Amino acid sequence: MIRCPHCGTTTRIYHFSWSALSCQGCDKIVDKYDFDVETKVKTENINLSKDQWQCYSDTPNDVIKTVNKFFTYILFVCETPVLAQKTAYAYLERYVTWGFLDSECCQVATDMINKYYNSDINRWQCMNEELIKR
Ligand SMILES: [Zn+2]
Repeated sequence: MIRCPHCGTTTRIYHFSWSALSCQGCDKIVDKYDFDVETKVKTENINLSKDQWQCYSDTPNDVIKTVNKFFTYILFVCETPVLAQKTAYAYLERYVTWGFLDSECCQVATDMINKYYNSDINRWQCMNEELIKR
């Protein structure tokens, strides 16, 4: 479930292949990154500290908070660990200036995914699978 930041209407979503949605409550177009995520259904909230993420030390706390929130969301909506990883990397690209795509952060993200899905993928898994498909 995601919650509209304008009117608070919640919408159930089943996949991640959209970039913006028009809210069913107020008809405003909302970018997917601006939706609040309702996470209590299935996912425990991800709440890693700056140190745990191993991103750069000058990363603003707001960024950490947003990344944690979005990561919780990814775990909630993605059905497979590889999809979650792919989605996570695509998202973390926004924060590349704070080191979120460095190998340390990718490993942290992958560890989290493995823990949640009880899987055992490595941090290149989603890229490897794309190569195999080609
Ligand atoms: Zn709305």
